[in-house]
Amino acid sequence: MEMSSELPTLSMVAEELLKKVKLIYQQLSQLTDELLLALKFVFGPAALQALELVDRRAVTLVNSPSGRSLYQVEGSSGQVYHCLSSCLYCSCPAFMYSVLRRNDNILCKHILAVYLCQAMGVFHQLTVTDKQLTSLLLAKDKEPGSTA
Ligand SMILES: [Zn+2]
Repeated sequence: MEMSSELPTLSMVAEELLKKVKLIYQQLSQLTDELLLALKFVFGPAALQALELVDRRAVTLVNSPSGRSLYQVEGSSGQVYHCLSSCLYCSCPAFMYSVLRRNDNILCKHILAVYLCQAMGVFHQLTVTDKQLTSLLLAKDKEPGSTA
């Protein structure tokens, strides 16, 4: 599959950078300082936050038998967000305000973490039923600290 078809709205620069992340990580099992700087330059503060998420193995790919999937990312506060990498959506507030409304970021740290984990191949996998996947998609995200 072409990489470009998976990353429809990322800039060329971001796309090339993620390809390089994949290549370097395959060769060295870690990222170089040069690459870390480039990530920070292209993605801003979200880069470091996303790399922390990658380090914590906070990303889980959730699959269902019918082939649908989404990514779960556990944020630093323990809040879990859902990311649809195929259409670049994340359920976190930063995505809503900063990406959708103000258009001043191309993605949030969770989606960036998903891309980095895809490139580096370091995510958990979980298989659920189709019904469970649908309820994950439709679930309203709980406020942090809420027990409901
Ligand atoms: Zn997010």
